[in-house]
Amino acid sequence: MKKVIARSEGHGWATCPCTPTSLLVDTSYLADLIALMACSENPAENEVMYVKGVGPKKAAALEEVGIHTIADLLHHFPRRYLDRSRLTPIAGLKIGSEVTVVGKVVTRGLLRARRSYYEVLIADDTGNLPLIWFGGIKYIENRLKTGMTISVSGTITDFHGPQLTHPDFEIVFADEAEEKLHTGRIIPLYPSTAGLKKVFLDSRGLRRIIKPALDKYADLLEDVMPAAIAAELELPPLAESVRQMHYPDSFDKQQTARRSLALRELFRFALLVIDRRARFRKRTKPHSLTRPDQEYAAIVKRLPFKLTQAQRRVIGEIFSDLRQSQPMQRLLQGDVGSGKTVVATLTMALLAHSGWQAALMAPTEILARQHYNTIATILEGSHIKVALLTGSTPASERREITHDLSAGEIDLVIGTHALLSEDIKFDNLAYVVVDEQHRFGVEQREALLAKGNHPDLMVMTATPIPRTLALTAYGDLDVSLIDQLPEGRKPVRSALRAATDHPNIYRFIRNEVGKGNQAFIIYPLVEESLKVQLTAATKAYEHLRTDVFPDQNVGLIHGQMKRDERRRTMADFVEGRINIMVATTVVEVGIDIPDATVILIEHAERFGLSQLHQLRGRVGRSERKSYCILVTEMEPASASYRRLEEFTDCTDGFAISELDLKLRGPGDLLGIRQSGLPIFRVADLVHDLSLILTARECALKLLDNKYGLSDEEKVRLNQYIISGRAFPFSSGVS
Ligand code: ADP
Ligand code: MG
Repeated sequence: MKKVIARSEGHGWATCPCTPTSLLVDTSYLADLIALMACSENPAENEVMYVKGVGPKKAAALEEVGIHTIADLLHHFPRRYLDRSRLTPIAGLKIGSEVTVVGKVVTRGLLRARRSYYEVLIADDTGNLPLIWFGGIKYIENRLKTGMTISVSGTITDFHGPQLTHPDFEIVFADEAEEKLHTGRIIPLYPSTAGLKKVFLDSRGLRRIIKPALDKYADLLEDVMPAAIAAELELPPLAESVRQMHYPDSFDKQQTARRSLALRELFRFALLVIDRRARFRKRTKPHSLTRPDQEYAAIVKRLPFKLTQAQRRVIGEIFSDLRQSQPMQRLLQGDVGSGKTVVATLTMALLAHSGWQAALMAPTEILARQHYNTIATILEGSHIKVALLTGSTPASERREITHDLSAGEIDLVIGTHALLSEDIKFDNLAYVVVDEQHRFGVEQREALLAKGNHPDLMVMTATPIPRTLALTAYGDLDVSLIDQLPEGRKPVRSALRAATDHPNIYRFIRNEVGKGNQAFIIYPLVEESLKVQLTAATKAYEHLRTDVFPDQNVGLIHGQMKRDERRRTMADFVEGRINIMVATTVVEVGIDIPDATVILIEHAERFGLSQLHQLRGRVGRSERKSYCILVTEMEPASASYRRLEEFTDCTDGFAISELDLKLRGPGDLLGIRQSGLPIFRVADLVHDLSLILTARECALKLLDNKYGLSDEEKVRLNQYIISGRAFPFSSGVS
């Protein structure tokens, strides 16, 4: 408990003006109550070193993986289980089948035939099975001892009968004494890491420390879930759930335990998110909006197109937020090409027009520049003064912009991370827009917000976020959706081709650029081998330029290029001096080249589906017919090939995100570092939608005072909210 208090002091709840007090408790006497509770030391909150069998070395390794307290250790759950009542008997093994078998080591030793090999013979009640190693013999000899019970997996081969060669193995019990400790039939197998294994905390080592800790401390675990909600959801007590998760009596019981723990986890998280939002709502902002007037109408009139109905609706939603006295917190979702920029522009213009400053932050320089050009054009002839600030803004210009921003002479600034720099100050920043927000961390958007006095916030994303994620990662935001593409857009036709098709593909591209259109050719960059890949892209570029399209203007753009060069190349493409652009994924987000009608993506299997969808969104931005060609050398029977086929058949960004989420998990979809999602130990954001909804509903009802909590429960929850503990966040939410 002491530790928690120390951490909450770190949050500065006693001094900070935006104190994270929650709505639950009248805060005037909160500090006293918490101080009081801090005295009641809970042993389960002690450092993990206090567990029997955990010395300083093991404790340090556990710290590394985020296990600090005994309670943390008890929440390190099995990855899978070994069900001893349902094992494949050795006598029934079939040649060629893939199996997991459990047996006791009966003999072991080095044998000699044509070459020497090491044989370990395991046995169960039904028969014997030889395990054979030709290499790594010393290691096996040291690890596997007679009398051990081990679990082995592999494919059964035939050599005078069934055997396993070089199987994966796991020590289940070191000896009979250990086996006697485990009377249950279902044995937990824990996830481990290289660091943990170094200090003997493999699955079995973990079992050895977790089992006694479970017996001693499970009943002391503090349950944040209020009793009334636990009863409503029919949750078994926390201690029982934790026990059944580690040593289930049956898989039914394990499932019940999983639900109970997942709901607790999701409830706590929902509470944090909702509370955070509510706190935000209690703030008042100093700025206000004047009514749209003639000048605003003139700006809208100057647009080269008519706004779609969805755009108009969303602009209305934002206006009404901007008019409130609480700051806006809004997520703008819209598929690639749906026209989010103009929504940002018009809403920023209106606020700027009322005398306040607005800032738009984009993840890349190319994109910031593009936005600047678009926005400056739209606002031409108005009184709004626009500036662009990026890492490559020359020093003298930068000085000027810095000055003008702090003096309030610039109304609207567009930029990259450069906006976050400490010397950039605003006179009256009232509105922050973050484009392609999955490219930013939560801290970054907070840093920009901190430059104003409770500015309105809008984050924009073209990665449609499946509902489960939206509710968890963005549960504190209101959502606006542009669910309509500008008129006349035709879906991009997608095709999957083999590398042998290149001649045809190149002919097709030649034909398209012959009509005055432009083309992208994308090479993936894999971070681990940046150099190699870059050489590949550069080589491919040389080949395309000199051998394939000698009569065309081929350009190359990648992230390692000097900024100036990159900017010039991009400008050449925008203005049509380049008609075929060879690129890495620097063009992935946001780039808007209406004349581009073909995008060829090499090694398509290396991209995630959402990423492919983003790339595909670089074309199809006009009324012309557009094409996306994926090239892969994967086998048609392979899973990656089928995944790509599904992609070519599907143009709906939401469906693609759902698919991507299932295949690759939330980290990939939201950007791992940026996601701001906690690492859930039990809950599963892909499959637990109904639990997420239930947990959220409970949290809402709770904050609405529907549950009649005891004072003690209120304090506990409140303290939980303040400390923000129990979630190792992948990045700092809250
Ligand atoms: P995204 O939502 O992917 O950021 P953009 O804002 O870049 O999309 O807009 C894509 C393209 O569509 C741009 O060229 C933009 O000028 C154009 N556009 C936006 N709104 C409309 C509209 N209502 N009608 C026609 N074209 C539009
Ligand atoms: Mg965009």
